[in-house]
Amino acid sequence: MSKQVPLFIGGEFVQSKTDQWIPVTNPATQEVIAQVPCTTDEEMEAAIASAAKTFETWKETPISERARIMLRYQALLKEHQEEIATILCEETGKTFEDGMGDVWRGIEVVEHACNIASLSMGETVENVARKIDSYSYTQPLGVCVGITPFNFPAMIPLWMFPLAIACGNTFILKPSEQDPNTPTRLVELFQQAGAPEGVLQVVHGGKEQVDKLLTHPVTQAISFVGSVAVGEHIYKTGTDHLKRVQAFAGAKNHMVIMPDAQKNHLINNLVGASVGAGGQRCMAISVAVFVGESRKWIPELKEALSKVRPGVWNDKEAAYGPQINPAAKDRILSFIEAGKKEGATCELDGSNCTVEGYPDGNWVGPTLFTNVTTDMSIYKEEIFGPVLCCIEADTIEEAIELINECPYGNGTSIFTASGAAARKFQHEIKVGQVGINVPVPVPLPFFSFTGWRKSFYGDQHAYGKQAIKFYTETKTVTARWFEDDINTGANMTINLK
Ligand code: NAD
Repeated sequence: MSKQVPLFIGGEFVQSKTDQWIPVTNPATQEVIAQVPCTTDEEMEAAIASAAKTFETWKETPISERARIMLRYQALLKEHQEEIATILCEETGKTFEDGMGDVWRGIEVVEHACNIASLSMGETVENVARKIDSYSYTQPLGVCVGITPFNFPAMIPLWMFPLAIACGNTFILKPSEQDPNTPTRLVELFQQAGAPEGVLQVVHGGKEQVDKLLTHPVTQAISFVGSVAVGEHIYKTGTDHLKRVQAFAGAKNHMVIMPDAQKNHLINNLVGASVGAGGQRCMAISVAVFVGESRKWIPELKEALSKVRPGVWNDKEAAYGPQINPAAKDRILSFIEAGKKEGATCELDGSNCTVEGYPDGNWVGPTLFTNVTTDMSIYKEEIFGPVLCCIEADTIEEAIELINECPYGNGTSIFTASGAAARKFQHEIKVGQVGINVPVPVPLPFFSFTGWRKSFYGDQHAYGKQAIKFYTETKTVTARWFEDDINTGANMTINLK
């Protein structure tokens, strides 16, 4: 049997006693590189119990001590960035440069967590009534849970556990079963940074293990990132069990191209945003909306896309890697077929893509559709592959209406030279993350990652100030201290006197 991915329980890496293992495969070759355990019930209970027990001491740990662990952690992550990226690329197939970006965007969140003391400051008001002051604190919730997807195995776990733990919680991570080696390395470094045993636990598996975390009486808050169907299940089940839940789900992101956009900048950015990472990004652009005369650039876009080639992670010429697994590839190919049948024009078809020396890789080439209409499945569904649909609109109003009618609201962008058009777009669009001449507007961690509508279930988003709210309760104190003995009689109202 290939390498077994360990669990991390009570501060120790342990081998699971399960008899159910899921193979982790190299998506460029299908070689099995590891086996990931479906954590047993007993092991799940041990992880939850250890997290609960550790919470009692961890929540009393001074905030500066918590911050110092994060300071050491971000330094270690930077020191090991290339090594983590290599592990990540081997199991996801991402190109090395993209893998480095995955780790870097996670490191930025750890840097943000180093500011936990200032982020945690409450509010104070003196003299809310005569000689009465009010002030608020944030206090941690207890055992928090993170369930993460395959497509950012470094960044997304790092969206969650550093901030939750910095807030004084303990955390149980259930990473994607498709690329568990990256989070394992992140956790080893967290331990090396001085995190006390038990603050972070890692369990593996699928629905059964996730459902246990969603329904267990001890867990308090659930952070999820993944597909819409699973996100809905997580949100409904978690809230049904009276837990706090934030669930980041799928997307269908549009880029609006105005005729006054800078053409070369636009084409370069659209190519990268649509097929970069093989389209396996929740902020990938999957629909290009050409407004008016900008439609004349479609042939140049096609030419630029036709030059893009996927390849293996350490091939410097490769623009992106394989799809994560054969089922994901088949799903994309069936969308391409459906698009053709539904009447769209397939200008570029990546279905028969091959990469020399890697006949078994899950390759899909850049695919471009024109004459797409909103009733087609390629428009309506998240394909999560290197497939770009082009739609035409006569006016910016039409483009905005189209986007606002799409049920997803993760990201969008507009390319234009007009401040007025950009202002109108940013104001009227019902999408959480808006780029102006920026194709993939993922906010830096001092802001929050703010998907809307079907792309997000919950109210407090990831990182930024909202994550602190998500991972804490606010306690508001109203206090009166006496200088003299006073006797004002019983107060029979609810007013402060
Ligand atoms: P997924 O939903 O298949 O899996 C996500 C996690 O849920 C994994 O840990 C998996 O083990 C677990 N899971 C799978 N099925 C489950 C079930 N039935 N019950 C409980 N848990 C289950 O997602 P994926 O394929 O790993 O990731 C791709 C998806 O994630 C895309 O839809 C993408 O848009 C989305 N995504 C969204 C964001 C965002 O911020 N909105 C970011 C990254 C990815």
